Amino acid sequence: MSAPALFDLPAAAPSTAVPATFRRSGITVLSYGLGADSTAILLMFLTAPERYGLRADLSDLVVVHAVTGDEWPDSLSYVDRLVLPLLRRARVRLVQIARGGPEDADGVVILDDSRQPRRIFAQGPWRLSDELRAAGTVPQMANGRRTCSIKFKGWCLDQWAAHEFGTASFRRVIGYHAGELPRAEKDTGIQRRLNAEAGRTICEPHYPLILVAMDRAAVEAYVLEQLGEPIRKSYCAQCPFSGVCASRDAHEERLRAHPHVAADVLRMEYVSQALNERVALYGTTSLRKRLTDDGRNTAVMDAFALSLDQAPHAVYEVRRIYFAARTAECRQWHGGNCRTPRWWCRQARTEECVQGHPAGRFEPWCSGYWDSCRGETAKGQAWRSVRTVFEGTRAGTQAYVRAMAVAHDMRLEQGEHSGIERAHYLTVGDSYPTVSGYLVAAPAGVHDKQRPRFEERFTQLTGRDGTVGTPVRELPEPAPRRRTGGTVLIRRVKTIGGVMLIA
Ligand code: SF4
Ligand SMILES: [Zn+2]
Ligand SMILES: [Zn+2]
Repeated sequence: MSAPALFDLPAAAPSTAVPATFRRSGITVLSYGLGADSTAILLMFLTAPERYGLRADLSDLVVVHAVTGDEWPDSLSYVDRLVLPLLRRARVRLVQIARGGPEDADGVVILDDSRQPRRIFAQGPWRLSDELRAAGTVPQMANGRRTCSIKFKGWCLDQWAAHEFGTASFRRVIGYHAGELPRAEKDTGIQRRLNAEAGRTICEPHYPLILVAMDRAAVEAYVLEQLGEPIRKSYCAQCPFSGVCASRDAHEERLRAHPHVAADVLRMEYVSQALNERVALYGTTSLRKRLTDDGRNTAVMDAFALSLDQAPHAVYEVRRIYFAARTAECRQWHGGNCRTPRWWCRQARTEECVQGHPAGRFEPWCSGYWDSCRGETAKGQAWRSVRTVFEGTRAGTQAYVRAMAVAHDMRLEQGEHSGIERAHYLTVGDSYPTVSGYLVAAPAGVHDKQRPRFEERFTQLTGRDGTVGTPVRELPEPAPRRRTGGTVLIRRVKTIGGVMLIA
């Protein structure tokens, strides 16, 4: 099979655009995700380095693994048992990196950088699941991109590479297989753009599985033949994305094999749904529902029920403001930033208004006095406030919600998709802006959070002052965003007796 479009990247940027500092590092970097594709490439490199443009002693290969902290235990064990001994024998350099914390200013930590790696690290100082639990949510897409993968893998790899290579270019090997040509082409396009923007060749993408025309089945067969044990997909246990996560059957089978991992994922999803009825792992469809519908999952559901019963709980008061979206006319007359809002900036003018009160030179002049001029509002941005108003056992927090419902005349209702009970005191209206407010009991751990101007806008819209319950703690002072200052901190970690020390 030929794939010329992929491999016609310029060896370097045109000479006129090449900075004086440009040089090739001569290093090949393999992003190692622990799965079948990158494992197959690694085995191919180990078997015949020179065939893939590497030195016979593999001294010019660096294998880099970005640790999310939520990898399946059997994927870690597979690589520990079957792959690391091969890396040690060939003295291949393996670098394991992870996020240092929630903010970019926390930098990247190097968990291990060794030609004699003993194990794959299960986690760094800040796991993806830590982030999701603190936010009370599950992995989601934003603008068609998986933000979790960008933040916990791509970003770490880019920062490490910038630190390692400076302005020197390297060859970046990615495990797209022959069935993933469009993804590889997209990746090449993105890298070409990044190289052009940087005015130099940051790296040259290289896709060995496509070159040797190996599809997923061929890759799995090859790894099995080489290592003698079938390899499983590698992904975070809470991953909901098809194409990344295994097929539904394989995923659920794995959850059955690891009921305690499954219970953790189900608990994460439960909290997410408690705070947002529509955000289960698969949109409004929950993993919990999928597993409940299948009689083979009793052990998993029992582990989940037990973990839910035993988890420290909190009562969260969840308030939302749904603002009205800007209208087309607001964009037309006020551009990207509306500084002089008129009534028609958030409420579309009716056809009658447009005909009867046409726009002048600068904008429509209608005052909106006539009801017949005022059309619909559309939903715009939503702000959420989460405040913890009670902490205790599961039963204690559920009883608190019910008691508050009686005391404050709230409506007790079970979520349409989740079945989770909430006490509502403000319900979303038909037009915007509108608000909602409720109390719900769920496992503790979600950080209290709201925008600085939330209370002001909430009071403007409702006439209410703050929460119904009494928050158990103050909101953290809004800290100024810590900047990376352009250079991300890269630190080394030492693990002594299971304790991680960051230098
Ligand atoms: S495996 Fe899934 S959940 Fe984990 S980082 Fe990748 S996309 Fe996100
Ligand atoms: Zn406007
Ligand atoms: Zn009008």
